[in-house]
Amino acid sequence: MLIRGGCHCGNISFELNWLPDPTEISARACDCSFCTKHGGVWTSLPTGSLRISIEEPALVSKYAFGTGTARFDICGRCGVVPVVTSETDGRLYAVVNVNTFNDVPRSLLRPDPVSFEDEDLGSRLARRTRNWIGDVRYLDAGDRAGKSGLSGAARTG
Ligand SMILES: [Zn+2]
Repeated sequence: MLIRGGCHCGNISFELNWLPDPTEISARACDCSFCTKHGGVWTSLPTGSLRISIEEPALVSKYAFGTGTARFDICGRCGVVPVVTSETDGRLYAVVNVNTFNDVPRSLLRPDPVSFEDEDLGSRLARRTRNWIGDVRYLDAGDRAGKSGLSGAARTG
Protein backbone atom coordinates (compact mmCIF):
# COMPACT_ATOMS: atom_id res chain seq x y z
CA MET A 1 0.00 0.00 0.00
CA LEU A 2 1.42 3.35 -1.00
CA ILE A 3 0.48 5.92 1.61
CA ARG A 4 0.75 9.58 0.67
CA GLY A 5 0.74 12.42 3.12
CA GLY A 6 2.26 15.72 4.00
CA CYS A 7 1.75 19.10 5.54
CA HIS A 8 -1.26 21.28 4.78
CA CYS A 9 0.29 23.65 2.23
CA GLY A 10 2.20 20.99 0.29
CA ASN A 11 5.72 22.11 1.19
CA ILE A 12 6.50 18.78 2.88
CA SER A 13 5.11 15.63 1.29
CA PHE A 14 5.91 11.96 1.68
CA GLU A 15 5.25 8.55 0.21
CA LEU A 16 5.37 5.57 2.52
CA ASN A 17 5.44 2.17 0.90
CA TRP A 18 3.79 -0.20 3.40
CA LEU A 19 4.30 -3.83 2.47
CA PRO A 20 2.47 -6.12 2.69
CA ASP A 21 -0.80 -4.19 2.60
CA PRO A 22 -1.80 -3.35 6.18
CA THR A 23 -4.89 -4.85 7.80
CA GLU A 24 -4.44 -2.20 10.46
CA ILE A 25 -2.09 0.68 11.13
CA SER A 26 -0.90 1.31 14.66
CA ALA A 27 -1.57 4.95 15.57
CA ARG A 28 0.60 5.88 18.53
CA ALA A 29 -0.54 9.04 20.26
CA CYS A 30 2.63 10.13 22.01
CA ASP A 31 2.18 11.83 25.39
CA CYS A 32 5.27 14.03 25.30
CA SER A 33 4.65 17.74 25.61
CA PHE A 34 5.46 18.48 21.96
CA CYS A 35 3.19 15.78 20.52
CA THR A 36 0.40 16.71 22.90
CA LYS A 37 0.53 20.30 21.72
CA HIS A 38 0.71 19.32 18.04
CA GLY A 39 -1.61 16.34 17.98
CA GLY A 40 1.25 14.09 16.89
CA VAL A 41 0.06 10.51 16.32
CA TRP A 42 2.79 8.34 14.84
CA THR A 43 3.17 5.14 12.93
CA SER A 44 5.99 3.18 11.34
CA LEU A 45 6.96 -0.24 10.15
CA PRO A 46 10.58 -1.37 10.06
CA THR A 47 10.26 -2.79 6.54
CA GLY A 48 8.64 0.31 5.10
CA SER A 49 10.34 2.73 2.78
CA LEU A 50 9.77 6.44 3.08
CA ARG A 51 10.52 9.18 0.56
CA ILE A 52 10.20 12.75 1.77
CA SER A 53 10.00 15.67 -0.65
CA ILE A 54 10.50 19.25 0.42
CA GLU A 55 9.67 22.10 -1.93
CA GLU A 56 11.29 24.90 0.04
CA PRO A 57 13.86 23.70 2.58
CA ALA A 58 14.17 27.20 4.02
CA LEU A 59 10.57 26.83 5.14
CA VAL A 60 11.16 23.66 7.14
CA SER A 61 12.16 23.85 10.78
CA LYS A 62 14.09 20.86 12.14
CA TYR A 63 13.03 20.97 15.75
CA ALA A 64 14.69 18.90 18.46
CA PHE A 65 14.27 18.90 22.22
CA GLY A 66 14.93 16.67 25.22
CA THR A 67 17.65 14.22 24.22
CA GLY A 68 18.02 16.02 20.88
CA THR A 69 18.11 12.71 19.02
CA ALA A 70 14.81 13.08 17.17
CA ARG A 71 14.16 15.86 14.69
CA PHE A 72 10.64 17.03 13.95
CA ASP A 73 10.12 18.39 10.42
CA ILE A 74 7.83 21.36 10.99
CA CYS A 75 6.50 23.24 8.00
CA GLY A 76 7.29 26.90 8.55
CA ARG A 77 4.41 27.97 6.35
CA CYS A 78 1.46 25.92 7.63
CA GLY A 79 2.83 24.57 10.93
CA VAL A 80 2.08 20.90 10.32
CA VAL A 81 4.54 18.20 11.50
CA PRO A 82 4.35 15.24 9.11
CA VAL A 83 7.64 13.44 9.90
CA VAL A 84 10.14 12.79 12.68
CA THR A 85 13.59 11.41 11.92
CA SER A 86 16.37 10.01 14.09
CA GLU A 87 19.86 9.08 12.98
CA THR A 88 21.63 6.10 14.57
CA ASP A 89 24.97 4.74 13.37
CA GLY A 90 24.74 6.78 10.20
CA ARG A 91 21.32 5.46 9.29
CA LEU A 92 18.18 7.54 9.17
CA TYR A 93 14.98 6.25 10.77
CA ALA A 94 11.56 7.89 10.73
CA VAL A 95 7.97 7.84 11.89
CA VAL A 96 5.10 9.62 10.16
CA ASN A 97 2.09 11.39 11.60
CA VAL A 98 -1.12 9.51 10.73
CA ASN A 99 -3.01 12.80 10.97
CA THR A 100 -1.11 13.97 7.90
CA PHE A 101 -2.12 11.04 5.67
CA ASN A 102 -4.02 12.09 2.55
CA ASP A 103 -5.95 9.04 1.53
CA VAL A 104 -5.95 6.36 4.22
CA PRO A 105 -9.33 5.20 5.59
CA ARG A 106 -9.56 6.12 9.27
CA SER A 107 -10.96 2.63 9.91
CA LEU A 108 -7.48 1.23 9.25
CA LEU A 109 -6.03 3.16 12.18
CA ARG A 110 -5.75 1.34 15.50
CA PRO A 111 -5.24 3.75 18.42
CA ASP A 112 -2.27 2.70 20.49
CA PRO A 113 -1.38 5.27 23.17
CA VAL A 114 2.24 5.22 24.24
CA SER A 115 4.47 6.88 26.78
CA PHE A 116 8.23 7.08 26.44
CA GLU A 117 8.90 9.63 29.16
CA ASP A 118 10.63 7.14 31.46
CA GLU A 119 12.79 5.53 28.80
CA ASP A 120 16.56 5.95 28.97
CA LEU A 121 18.47 7.07 25.90
CA GLY A 122 19.97 3.68 25.05
CA SER A 123 16.59 1.97 25.13
CA ARG A 124 15.10 4.78 23.12
CA LEU A 125 17.61 4.54 20.27
CA ALA A 126 17.39 0.74 20.25
CA ARG A 127 13.61 0.90 20.02
CA ARG A 128 13.81 3.28 17.07
CA THR A 129 16.16 1.01 15.12
CA ARG A 130 13.73 -1.89 15.76
CA ASN A 131 10.42 -0.20 15.11
CA TRP A 132 10.89 2.93 13.03
CA ILE A 133 10.88 3.03 9.23
CA GLY A 134 14.36 1.86 8.28
CA ASP A 135 14.60 3.09 4.70
CA VAL A 136 14.30 6.87 4.66
CA ARG A 137 15.40 9.36 2.04
CA TYR A 138 14.89 13.03 1.44
CA LEU A 139 14.36 13.91 -2.19
CA ASP A 140 15.41 17.42 -3.17
CA ALA A 141 13.49 19.42 -5.73
CA GLY A 142 16.27 18.85 -8.23
CA ASP A 143 16.70 15.26 -7.21
CA ARG A 144 13.34 13.59 -7.68
CA ALA A 145 14.93 10.67 -9.47
CA GLY A 146 15.75 9.34 -6.03
CA LYS A 147 19.50 9.04 -6.18
CA SER A 148 20.22 11.17 -3.15
CA GLY A 149 20.71 9.36 0.17
CA LEU A 150 20.60 11.67 3.07
CA SER A 151 21.39 14.91 1.31
CA GLY A 152 18.38 16.72 2.71
CA ALA A 153 19.20 15.80 6.26
CA ALA A 154 22.87 16.58 5.78
CA ARG A 155 22.17 19.96 4.26
CA THR A 156 19.91 21.16 7.02
CA GLY A 157 21.42 19.32 9.94
ZN1 LIG B 1 3.09 23.33 4.95
